[in-house]
Amino acid sequence: MPAAHGPVCESWWSARLLQGIADGDHGRLSRGRTYYRQGAVREITVDADHIQVTAFVQGSRGRPYRVSVAYLAIDDTRWSHILDDLAQDPDAADDLLAGELPEVTEEVFARHGLALFPDSADDIDIHCTCPDRGGYPCKHGAAVMFAWAALLDENPLLLFAWLGRTEEEVLDALESTAPGGPAGELAVEVTPLAESSADFWTGGDLTPLARPRPFDPLSHWEGSTLGVASGLAPMYARLRRGPGGTEGA
Ligand SMILES: [Zn+2]
Repeated sequence: MPAAHGPVCESWWSARLLQGIADGDHGRLSRGRTYYRQGAVREITVDADHIQVTAFVQGSRGRPYRVSVAYLAIDDTRWSHILDDLAQDPDAADDLLAGELPEVTEEVFARHGLALFPDSADDIDIHCTCPDRGGYPCKHGAAVMFAWAALLDENPLLLFAWLGRTEEEVLDALESTAPGGPAGELAVEVTPLAESSADFWTGGDLTPLARPRPFDPLSHWEGSTLGVASGLAPMYARLRRGPGGTEGA
């Protein structure tokens, strides 16, 4: 995990995420930003199973507070439609496979009735173990949102993990669904070694070879050195007959 401080909003997606909470408590958002910049956010992780981001935030004193941030729960059917749509769009799939988030992702989510990013702080469920209930989100929650945006700057595919699909699951879905296989590669079907290792050692079924043409050693001499072919012919004839006198193939 990268350090949970530093610049935020180097990408359109982290800017969109923070835009979504801009209507939250202004004083607390501002203090949260300072907390984040001072490195108060520790151990930020994204958990695709629990569809949430969790982190610890060190306050001015005592034990750090635990913060969790959840947004959308997406059912399996919708997920498969979303990933299909992204896979069918070669530009989008290319971007995602290169670790970028194409803007069309928002449209794809909208097509399935979902907002990729929150429109309001109230759309996000930010929980903190601190006692502050005076405004939403609390400064610890706000600090985690800034840290989360910074993490997304570096790897936007974590956004999918926040919504329930790991980066690996997304990339697998794109590679297996994309028309003609992974973009930029030849559409050649290759059986992974794990599925074909038995054939690898036994050879499997061999393709029948064409019958070899009869070999005539004398043809080499014919026409190039006069007399050699005719002189060697009786010797080759005897060799072919072998000691038993029968002619081989
Ligand atoms: Zn708090």
